[in-house]
Amino acid sequence: MNPKRAYLTIDDGPAANFREKMGVLDERDIWALWFCTGAAIERQMDDAVHAIRKGHALGNHSFDHPRFSEVSLSEARRQIEETVRSRKDVACAL
Ligand SMILES: [Zn+2]
Repeated sequence: MNPKRAYLTIDDGPAANFREKMGVLDERDIWALWFCTGAAIERQMDDAVHAIRKGHALGNHSFDHPRFSEVSLSEARRQIEETVRSRKDVACAL
């Protein structure tokens, strides 16, 4: 038997009701990849740490969600790198 798999990705976490949404998924043993901005991670660090502890993953969704088609390459790079730093802060808080 070859079980079918689906991957759930969610944009722009952690939002205000992050834990409520995560709870709905956790009750059903559903894992998600939450694409988070670095700014949201820093604003809601406890929620980001909670997500990792629950077995979810955090993706890089830029630092503060600019339109990448409208920023310079160096600004795009800064957006990604700042969010990498924010995600490392989550790892350090575990
Ligand atoms: Zn987005």
